Amino acid sequence: MRIDILTLFPGMCEAVLSESILKRARGAGLVDIRCRDIRPYTRDKHHRVDDSPYGGGYGLVMQAQPVYDCFCALRDECGAKPHLIYLSPAGQTLTQQRVRELAHMEHIALLCGHYEGMDQRVLDEIVDEEISIGDYVLTGGELPALVVADSITRMLPGVLAADEAFEKESHYASLLEYPQYTKPPVWRDRAVPEILLGGHHEKIEQWQRQQMLRRTLERRPDLLEKADLSVQDVLYLYTFPQSASLPFLYDKLADGCEAFVRTQKKVSPTSLQRKLKADYALCVRLLDTMQSRGIVSAHEKGKPRIVLAQEPAE
Ligand code: SAM
Repeated sequence: MRIDILTLFPGMCEAVLSESILKRARGAGLVDIRCRDIRPYTRDKHHRVDDSPYGGGYGLVMQAQPVYDCFCALRDECGAKPHLIYLSPAGQTLTQQRVRELAHMEHIALLCGHYEGMDQRVLDEIVDEEISIGDYVLTGGELPALVVADSITRMLPGVLAADEAFEKESHYASLLEYPQYTKPPVWRDRAVPEILLGGHHEKIEQWQRQQMLRRTLERRPDLLEKADLSVQDVLYLYTFPQSASLPFLYDKLADGCEAFVRTQKKVSPTSLQRKLKADYALCVRLLDTMQSRGIVSAHEKGKPRIVLAQEPAE
């Protein structure tokens, strides 16, 4: 993949690109990141690239001409138009989902603004997308462009030790990562959770999954709505009182329950309770929901026998 950064401060970008994982990825040819200085493209005899805003106001605005010529030079050199992203606090906020999509593109260019921003006409002429890295304002687009380039690069095959390395990371699956620990096992009287020292992979995986769920519930419950949650995941979340205020969690549970009920000839609150290892009252509520969805035909609260409305799937 190729990424071009169009900037008035290429040195600022190169400083970051020449360190650590980005440096290694570039050196190994896994990504081709180049910085292109906009200033040499100005036709102003004093090499100016900005001017005062029409209509008055503070600061300076980057002029259309040098930016346009810089972009055209890149496009002509490559023989094709790269997907051009303007970094802007007024753009769509960057998400891991968008990073994943961008990582599939062959060639993107990142356009960095400076001063008070850029003449709108050049943005209208060449920009495909505007991206913000958050609801705050920085002095220039270089740091945001590096954020975009970094987040994309680490998704490219071969950049991290294993592709799965990012699958359990925060935001990949709309969940936050579990806490991480390294040696020593005890530091300032704080011990690493016992389970991580036991070497029981299944138990460790379950602990990590539960930590992810719990952290997301505590810190970013909004993320859970898009997360792919199993019935076990939701039942675990239900052990925390704040889950009760998230109606979409119940819907996810009901969906999982529906999938199970469809495979049964008969189902009762007790059999559901056995299957889910869940609270009896919750199972009664779930069967009420199944009835309202037309999945079960009759359901008397507390009675053991439920008749299905539909033929169970083979
Ligand atoms: N006057 C502009 C406004 O109010 O939207 C802010 C201009 S800012 C000082 C200069 C440049 O920094 C912008 O053109 C943009 O390229 C970049 N920038 C600043 N904050 C950003 C953010 N949160 N996300 C992406 N780019 C940002």
